[in-house]
Amino acid sequence: MVSDKPERKEQRMTDREQKAETLAMIEGYNSAMEMLEAESLDSVQHGICMTEDCDYTTQVEPDSTTGWCEVCNNGTVTSISELMFF
Ligand SMILES: [Zn+2]
Repeated sequence: MVSDKPERKEQRMTDREQKAETLAMIEGYNSAMEMLEAESLDSVQHGICMTEDCDYTTQVEPDSTTGWCEVCNNGTVTSISELMFF
């Protein structure tokens, strides 16, 4: 039952990290971490659509993972907090 696929940790950014960085750049921050620090105590935060080719950003609640994307017509917007913590 042991599957030992060699799962190498690459230095590549994950999709979530990439989205977080994209979101930060769009909103004028230098990094996702800077954005998180600036917005972590806010009652609304910026979020970004998680669809691969969509970089729609909007303001969502800090725990949002299903914010509405007007481009995709889907609940795909995730807040910066959710992106960074999970
Ligand atoms: Zn979208």
